[in-house]
Amino acid sequence: MLGLMQDRPLLISSLVEHAATFHPETEIVSRRPEGGTHRTHWRGIRDQSRQVAGMLRDLGVRQGDRVGTLAWNSDRHLALYYGASGSGAVLHTVNPRLFPDQIDYIINHAEDAVLCFDVTFAPLVEKLAPRLKSVRHFIAMCGRAHMPAIDVPGLQCFDELVAAQSIDYRWPEFDERTASSLCYTSGTTGNPKGVLYSHRSTVLHALMELAPDTFGLNSGETLMLIVPMFHANGWGAPYGAAMVGARLVLPGQFLDGKSVYEMMRDEKVSFSQGVPTVWLMLFQYLDANPDVDVGALTLKRVGIGGAAVPRAMLERFEKQFGAEVVQGWGMTETSPIGVISKLLPKHAALPAEELVKIKLKQGRGVWGVDLKIVDDDGKPLPWDGKAFGHLRVRGPWIASGYYKAEGGVVTDEEGFFSTGDVATIDPDGFLQLVDRAKDVIKSGGEWISSIDVENAAIGCPGIAEAAIIGVAHPKWGERPLLIAVKRPGAEVDKSAVLDYLAGRIAKWWLPDDVVFVAELPHTATGKLLKTKLREQYRDYELP
Ligand code: ADP
Repeated sequence: MLGLMQDRPLLISSLVEHAATFHPETEIVSRRPEGGTHRTHWRGIRDQSRQVAGMLRDLGVRQGDRVGTLAWNSDRHLALYYGASGSGAVLHTVNPRLFPDQIDYIINHAEDAVLCFDVTFAPLVEKLAPRLKSVRHFIAMCGRAHMPAIDVPGLQCFDELVAAQSIDYRWPEFDERTASSLCYTSGTTGNPKGVLYSHRSTVLHALMELAPDTFGLNSGETLMLIVPMFHANGWGAPYGAAMVGARLVLPGQFLDGKSVYEMMRDEKVSFSQGVPTVWLMLFQYLDANPDVDVGALTLKRVGIGGAAVPRAMLERFEKQFGAEVVQGWGMTETSPIGVISKLLPKHAALPAEELVKIKLKQGRGVWGVDLKIVDDDGKPLPWDGKAFGHLRVRGPWIASGYYKAEGGVVTDEEGFFSTGDVATIDPDGFLQLVDRAKDVIKSGGEWISSIDVENAAIGCPGIAEAAIIGVAHPKWGERPLLIAVKRPGAEVDKSAVLDYLAGRIAKWWLPDDVVFVAELPHTATGKLLKTKLREQYRDYELP
């Protein structure tokens, strides 16, 4: 017998309609790529989204067609989020930090019919345009005054196309399992693969972000979204924020420490989300400018994910900013949230040192995500906080496969997706990421967690950033090499680093050597690009 409740589809358009009805005047502040700060509100975003949907219809975009964006976090990008998906098209957020060859590969692979881009990417679009066979409309996301002078056939002006549309557009209704957006993984190995989200997966994922035990998004919040909207749906925050009518601050491409500090201060930001690299940039700015008043910030919480939170970062946010760190683990394939770290009531009585250890774990499963760790043969491992295993996840916002079936079957017989990460899970269900399977260092048959060594190294005075890779070793197979960037003006050397690490990590985890470099390579999303480092140091001779 079926229940007798209304079978209303979970559609993305309902989120922006809700925000416009119940939080019409709540501000959306954007730093626009062409300059200036733009202020609108949820009603304005809803109207703009409806106009975008009308624009796409008139351009001949049909349900299921892909609409590409090469754009920073801004009100226009937000309107495309809702306008494209809401109309039944698929929003394809292209990561502009990928190599041009990869960008052209994914736009062709996705067969985008339209490409909307910020003026910052005009030179890139001009270069790529002749190779983008499927794109029928190139649209610069700006007003007439800022139209780039580039040689792209039939270049159109976003603001003009949008302004020509009525705000009376009516959203279509369709199956909630319809594809809504598409995001390619960075492709640190092989070609990028497309993760195709649905309306249902997106709405359920957004709902999960509102619980106090997760990111606790709410209407009293001013959320500065630093994580790019071209990366895994901006961690779902653009949807969750609409669901509760949170005030949004969208920083455009201005992600340097100074700009982040000033926007946080001026817009009275209470919550912000970003990868560790952006926070390191903020800290570097503060260190270089000791007169800057951190007390002027109103930050209460920071959501950090995409890479492990170093202990020094957690402590600095707590002590200097008075802000709680909420760590999350996830990936493009998990929409992206898989686990979120929040303490349990029983932890209140723990001594500080014990507490830090728990806070540094990636977190516990949220409703909707089943977890397991398995050995090399796929056999489940115990949740004892010690056994390392391959992490597999299952749930309504986890990928079941890749777009156009690239990469073949990705789930096991129980429907769990193999994440490529290695983790432990403790008896309370806290997951701790040991490494990516491909980054883990195997020394004498035992695993060394590069994440743990890096996090310890970052705490060393004088070290700004650190990466650990495995280098071939005749006896142990592989041994760790630490590659580090010094803080400006710091006088730190190999022996100081090794002395600092001794006692903080297992003795056999100590790097065999330390190399100082001016900067480390990063992926398009600001993570350490270990493949490049491994290539560069392949023949490195350890002492
Ligand atoms: P890409 O695969 O392109 O790097 P993703 O954002 O999908 O982009 O990366 C997901 C990966 O990032 C995870 O599989 C995991 O290895 C790493 N990761 C995500 N969150 C954390 C975290 N809190 N701690 C450690 N690693 C993390």
